[in-house]
Amino acid sequence: MQEIVVVGTGFSGSILARKVAEELNIKVLIVEKRSHIGGNMYDEIDKGILVQRYGPHFLNTNKYWIIDYLSKYAELFEHNNKLLSYIDGKYVRLPFNFQTVQQLITPAKSELLLSKMRKEFYGRDRVPILELVEHQDADIRNYGELLFEKAYRTYISKQWGIPVEKIDRYVLDRVPMAMNYDERYLNKDFQYLPKEGYTKLFENMLNHPNIEVVLNTDAIEHIQFDGSNNIIKYDGHEIKLLIFTGAIDELFSLKFGDLPYRSLDIRYEYYEEDSVLPSEVVSYPQAEGYTRKTEYKKFNYKRDVTHSVVAAEYPLQYNRNASIGNIPFYPVTTDESTGIYKNYLLEVEKYGNIILCGRLAEFKYYNMDICIEHAFEKFEEVKNLLCV
Ligand SMILES: Cc1cc2nc3c(=O)[nH]c(=O)nc-3n(C[C@H](O)[C@H](O)[C@H](O)COP(=O)(O)OP(=O)(O)OC[C@H]3O[C@@H](n4cnc5c(N)ncnc54)[C@H](O)[C@@H]3O)c2cc1C
Repeated sequence: MQEIVVVGTGFSGSILARKVAEELNIKVLIVEKRSHIGGNMYDEIDKGILVQRYGPHFLNTNKYWIIDYLSKYAELFEHNNKLLSYIDGKYVRLPFNFQTVQQLITPAKSELLLSKMRKEFYGRDRVPILELVEHQDADIRNYGELLFEKAYRTYISKQWGIPVEKIDRYVLDRVPMAMNYDERYLNKDFQYLPKEGYTKLFENMLNHPNIEVVLNTDAIEHIQFDGSNNIIKYDGHEIKLLIFTGAIDELFSLKFGDLPYRSLDIRYEYYEEDSVLPSEVVSYPQAEGYTRKTEYKKFNYKRDVTHSVVAAEYPLQYNRNASIGNIPFYPVTTDESTGIYKNYLLEVEKYGNIILCGRLAEFKYYNMDICIEHAFEKFEEVKNLLCV
């Protein structure tokens, strides 16, 4: 009997597979429906440039043990991710910070506002945009509204496909304003990238005698549920444990309805020039169709080519049957989708031997650091279930 089946080779599935194989010395089958490992962190060389095929991924964390852990599988280098935003025909700093205030309302007009912000938000590094918009001071509020209208409203509605008023507040809170001149997109202490890319890191993580990796295989076509006896089978054989990191609605044949996700159509532009964008990532809140562009060579560890490639992200609704937009990237959490998700959770609980882990299975917006931390916590559940 195959003891454990893991579905998905992103961070969630790969970390759990490695820990089960290494620490519990149990054989694991890890099944991936794409033609490669690494989930959304997958990267490959394109004309001499390391390109991340599912959008740019920067490792940011306040917990050094995460960097330490990943260093077992790849050499990492320090890289502080810096972004610009293109607003009203000029590039301004993102995170929106004190420099952005000067860029958007002129240095002369910013003096009073900056002093008010320093006083009102004393001791705070970053402040969510809605706190500015809802502030009692009219100058702070007016600036918050200006930023909200010029950047957040358009970006968010393009990204999520719903009016900004309907979006979960925490989505807006993810891009707060820096109350200083900090240029780092995220104010996390440890910011790194793998020198040779994420795919190499995943190859090393999955390279263990107890791990068998199967690609190009939709696990759902091989999983059978015996609801009356609460038994799970893979290819007709009963398994002890299913670790699932894919979309939970698909695992149960959409029986409680589809869960909504946003997807991306990533379009590539190839240039003969050495440098194309003024920053490695540029956000375009006011552009038609696309939200941001990434120039990969700007954060490649090796930069030995004189041409460049830029990827533009066009968000669209996820549709599993379409030729474009058939990858679920971002779970769209609304009251309705949360309700549907809860029904799937109840179904999972009936079996007692399904572990859900990751962005899709848990229907939550996890960054990689949280995802890694979470996989470690889930491993404790795995041990309890297997009584080891
Ligand atoms: C555009 C974009 C940019 C991001 N940038 C950052 C960033 O800069 N920093 C950061 O920390 N985080 C970032 N993230 C978040 C990061 O991608 C996630 O934290 C991470 O992908 C979650 O890993 P996971 O293993 O849970 O999911 P995934 O990486 O999605 O892995 C799930 C895997 O399961 C496979 N699968 C699904 N269903 C099946 C099935 N039925 N059978 C077989 N295989 C299946 C999928 O093909 C996939 O490989 C970004 C996300 C996106 C979308």
